[in-house]
Amino acid sequence: MDNRHRVYFVGAGPGDPELITLRGRRLLDEADMIIYAGSLVNRALLDGLDAEFHDSAGLNLDQIIDLMVQGHTAGGRVVRLHSGDPSIYGAIREQMRRLDAMDIPYSVVPGVTSAAAAAAALKAELTVPELTQTVIFTRQGGRTPVPERESLENLAAARASMCIFLSVSRIDEVAGELIRGGYPADTPVAVVEKASWPEERIVRSTLDAIAAMVRKAGIRKTAMILVGQAVSDDSFSASRLYDAGFTHGCRE
Ligand code: SAH
Repeated sequence: MDNRHRVYFVGAGPGDPELITLRGRRLLDEADMIIYAGSLVNRALLDGLDAEFHDSAGLNLDQIIDLMVQGHTAGGRVVRLHSGDPSIYGAIREQMRRLDAMDIPYSVVPGVTSAAAAAAALKAELTVPELTQTVIFTRQGGRTPVPERESLENLAAARASMCIFLSVSRIDEVAGELIRGGYPADTPVAVVEKASWPEERIVRSTLDAIAAMVRKAGIRKTAMILVGQAVSDDSFSASRLYDAGFTHGCRE
């Protein structure tokens, strides 16, 4: 893939430097300028690279776009490195719109979202047959509002598996809304702090008890809340995909 004169939005993955795609790794290795989201991206990904680095944590949108334009017009290879997968709470749309307006070409390279890394840490399958076949990625409203129709309380009715981003500091409200919305109070919940980092921590409980445990553990940020019967480590029906009595495209 030709990456000259193109800006790349790259998913850095959840933290562990081995959890970036091969393409993302190559683009970093070849980059002339890397603008990275310093609050969540593991700096170990940048070790030994010979590029111009900018931490976007202290920059506003105009400043980020100015850097991209500078790097691009100088003929350089620009990587915009986002945590996890860029399509989830990545604020990439506003950046891409500005590049569109200037006819600057760009591509997006997906990444391992922290929701997947948290599920892996728990060794959970989020879609367990006969429990749930649906996963919801969402957040509690904060300074960025969430439309009322997708409030946690409204989403709770389906009792699907939920991956709740950006909300651990309001775990009391989260649990309360989910219970009011229809999850039984004893629904399993896990909070995974810094999934895939060396300092990863897991707190498992039920909806009615999780808030106190999270507060006690002192978890305030960079944590994923996983909710639903699928998050429990016991009783489930086996998938029909591997059931001896179930035929499919690859097995008669
Ligand atoms: N695009 C990112 C999410 C960015 S929003 C992704 O796909 O993962 C930032 C939120 O993501 C954090 O508030 C937290 O809820 C979650 N998050 C990011 N990295 C995490 C990690 N390593 N472990 C647990 N949660 C993480």
